[in-house]
Amino acid sequence: MVKYIFVTGGVLSSVGKGILTSSIGKMLQARGLKPTVVKIDPYVNIDAGTMNPYMHGEVFVTDDGGETDLDLGWYERFLDLSLKQENNLTTGTIYKSVIEKERRGDFLGRCVQIVPHVTNEIKNRIRNAGKMVNAEIVLTEVGGTVGDIEGLPFLEAIRQMRVEEGYENTLYVHVALVPVLDVTGEMKTKPLQHSVNELRRIGIQPDTIVARSPTMIDAEALRKIALFGTIPESAVFCSYNAETVYQVPLILDKQGMGDFICGRLAIKCKGKDFSGWEVFVDGMVHPEHEVKIALVGKYAGLSDSYVSMTEALRHGGAACKAKVCISYLEAEKFEREPHCISDLANFDGVFVPYGFGPRGTEGKIAATKYARENNIPFLGICYGFQLAVIEFARNVCGLKDANSTEINPDTPYPVIDLMPEQRGIEIKGATMRLGAHKVVLQKVTLAYSMFAQEEIHERHRHRFEVNLDYIEALKNNGLCFTGKSSDGRRMETLELSDKYFYFASQFHGEFKSRPGRPSPEYAGFIQACLNRKLGKPKTTIS
Ligand code: GLN
Repeated sequence: MVKYIFVTGGVLSSVGKGILTSSIGKMLQARGLKPTVVKIDPYVNIDAGTMNPYMHGEVFVTDDGGETDLDLGWYERFLDLSLKQENNLTTGTIYKSVIEKERRGDFLGRCVQIVPHVTNEIKNRIRNAGKMVNAEIVLTEVGGTVGDIEGLPFLEAIRQMRVEEGYENTLYVHVALVPVLDVTGEMKTKPLQHSVNELRRIGIQPDTIVARSPTMIDAEALRKIALFGTIPESAVFCSYNAETVYQVPLILDKQGMGDFICGRLAIKCKGKDFSGWEVFVDGMVHPEHEVKIALVGKYAGLSDSYVSMTEALRHGGAACKAKVCISYLEAEKFEREPHCISDLANFDGVFVPYGFGPRGTEGKIAATKYARENNIPFLGICYGFQLAVIEFARNVCGLKDANSTEINPDTPYPVIDLMPEQRGIEIKGATMRLGAHKVVLQKVTLAYSMFAQEEIHERHRHRFEVNLDYIEALKNNGLCFTGKSSDGRRMETLELSDKYFYFASQFHGEFKSRPGRPSPEYAGFIQACLNRKLGKPKTTIS
């Protein structure tokens, strides 16, 4: 029998449901169980691909090319899974498929309604996500906050699943904020109580409640949550602020949450093993070194815009026992105040992330130039790769005003141009080059020495690429394209062999980075930043 765990959130969004859901999965995985995860996003968009990262955080890309909510990234990192588009449900996907069925005549003349047609579609998709991978447990996180209008059909669907799947096979977890008053230091459980009431009003009684608070909740708060939540005190847990989010499964397990869930779902397990995870967490919490990274981006005001990149940099840091301190710098600042570029000398590495459109690109190009000329370790990803080509074309090859046609369609030297298959595409949703594609690495290069394989599969999300007309000019001036698509026509990695560490990739290594198994390009970058800081010679390539 498959078991279903549903996670809802109260009081406000961004309360840490994604981390909690991942942590529950981790506690189950540590007991030898096989979980999978579904994220429900009640917005009307079909997927996250068309959403602005500045408002919604990054778009996470799956192997199969899904443009999904960033929480899928947390599930993948915590549980080392490779999820699919189907693991992310939105109101858009559900309604699209119900309406398509209606147009086909599948409903045989019946009036199509939210209950049962929309709710059936939701339940089928949750169950299918489990079947797809033969999971023993399907965790479903309902995005947004209980009480949102958009969330109602989803909550109704998960309510029905209790009846259909049975008490022993379903569990409702509710997480809500428990703020602490500045003045008195008192923990306030009233907002949590109200959110539990809201959940009950739609027919769901939580089985366990997780208080999200700055510090461990006190006995009084715990008693109130249990009393007003109608659950035993042993079913109340607390997710308090930790040094790293990777500690959360250990914190909750210590409070007995893993055992509680297994007991409640009648799952028999023989002990638990967190050993690998604990080693990684220990490395993160007790670093021996520190490296300072300048992330020069367009969405620097919202660190969630770069969450997978941030985590990949940290995974790389953990591998060499280094704490990675990232400063998120607005690229436009270097355009407004060009003299500020020398601030980059205070960093051990310069990182230029993904991006779209012209805003901030000149600032990023200036930062790339500074890193190259001052031999500061540099890593560029996707747009960062393309802008490094532009910088090199302009300042080394002498191609004045070289650019990407994304930024300036009239540039005299379009060194970055739309991919041929993108021409004529007008629809924005899900039409980029997406997901995992094969990349072939040349031997005896920085790329090969980091990835240690000739063939890799890395995830992509782009419309533009290096224009083949300029390869000769770039190569002749010393820019090496060391990774390419199988047919050799798509440039995937670049490096400058005379620099301490200068590397960029068209693909996004961060999406496959895992705690304890960092993305090789990120790990290589951080290691180089640390080595240079410690005065070590640059590592030889093999
Ligand atoms: N804007 C660039 C492109 O579409 C880069 C995309 C990205 O950085 N993900 O090709």
